[in-house]
Amino acid sequence: NKIAENPQAIKENMIKRNHCPIDPYHVKTLNERRLENYNTLLHLRSQHNTLSKTASSSNKDKKNRDPALIQKAKELKQHIKQLEANLTTTETELLHCAVQIPNDTHPDVPVGPESNARVIKIVNESLLQEQKKYEDHMTIATRLGMIDLEQAAIVSGSSFYYLEGYGAFLETALIQYAMDKAASKGFLGVITPDIVRTSIAYGCGFQPRAGESSQIYHVQANEEDALCLAGTAEIPLAGKFATKVLEETELPKRLVGYGRAYRAEAGGRGTETKGLYRVHQFSKVELFAVSTEQQSDALLEQFREIQEEMFTELGLCFRVLDMPTEELGASAYRKYDIEAWMPGRNTWGEISSTSNCTDYQARRLSIRYRPTHNTGKNTSFCHTINGTAIAVPRIIIAILETFQQTDGSVKIPQVLQKWLPGQPSILSP
Ligand code: AMP
Repeated sequence: NKIAENPQAIKENMIKRNHCPIDPYHVKTLNERRLENYNTLLHLRSQHNTLSKTASSSNKDKKNRDPALIQKAKELKQHIKQLEANLTTTETELLHCAVQIPNDTHPDVPVGPESNARVIKIVNESLLQEQKKYEDHMTIATRLGMIDLEQAAIVSGSSFYYLEGYGAFLETALIQYAMDKAASKGFLGVITPDIVRTSIAYGCGFQPRAGESSQIYHVQANEEDALCLAGTAEIPLAGKFATKVLEETELPKRLVGYGRAYRAEAGGRGTETKGLYRVHQFSKVELFAVSTEQQSDALLEQFREIQEEMFTELGLCFRVLDMPTEELGASAYRKYDIEAWMPGRNTWGEISSTSNCTDYQARRLSIRYRPTHNTGKNTSFCHTINGTAIAVPRIIIAILETFQQTDGSVKIPQVLQKWLPGQPSILSP
């Protein structure tokens, strides 16, 4: 109804987001066709009922009923069948088109491409000014015996890796640190399934855009029960509430999930595919919340504060960006990315992202809540918010490159030490 009532506003929002897979005016037309079809169908069904009643009351004996009436009822039935089929086709097309419309956009979001991102703050900026000579993470990780790309390429292909020795333990330390941090803020810890129904991934807004290759690994050809590897724990975390009706008093529900993320990364860019930066599989700790409409803006800010707190404790130099309209994907109403300075790469690299998806995912997954006070509606759609706590490989890059020492060793951030075997403050070759 919202699309049909104001297709122009929807269209302008889609243009701002550079996400125009369909024309909302087409959705409006389909909706009109659907309503017309539906009303005709109601009318014909009631006609058919009346006719059947008249036919049966004309004579109790079936054999002696008026053949003209019976013929008319038959024809009506046929017409009804045809209209029912048309209605199903129209509804399917309507849904297919309507789900491609992206979320609305927060009024403060900068308009345009990635380069229009608004820098909100830079933390530990002094690290940017250091004039040392930096090695990249692969040189350091190889020297410290933390990584094996060669054998991973034989076993799984390029952009896979083995983390080993302190490489492996840095991963588990980061996961424990992030899970512990979120739990201390009241988040419920969850280990999520990594294989999900494709319909749940689509419900979260993960579906290929026209002309783009799918970033999703499909694991089953069977269309009836299509499964895929989750690209992020956000999918099983949102899916945990699919079809649920929650009580307003339970909200917000805040979860921290640990899962493996799988990304086909078709068309990944050259230097970004070097080492751990853009890989096909990685561990990620994800913050997720389901809330009311009134709570989601504040939760987005809270997620960002937790991210900032963690990256500050890790001692990284990072900047927080208010992402512009063309970078919001289909689901985000507003999104903050955080980029860490990676001195060995001599550039910023995205380490986390947090989005308020408002009711975009909740509508697709049917996540509702019952308001405590009567608002005239029995139920309302929830809002969902997600954010990266730790995406392991890029944090390892930032740590190795930021804390490398001239003697080839690497200092370990104090907050991680207790989660590492032997609690080392420095890793030496
Ligand atoms: P996204 O869910 O795409 O916003 O990604 C969340 C975080 O995961 C990003 O901020 C990156 O730190 C990390 N990330 C995304 N894709 C990859 C990848 N292919 N390899 C390694 N890390 C990734």
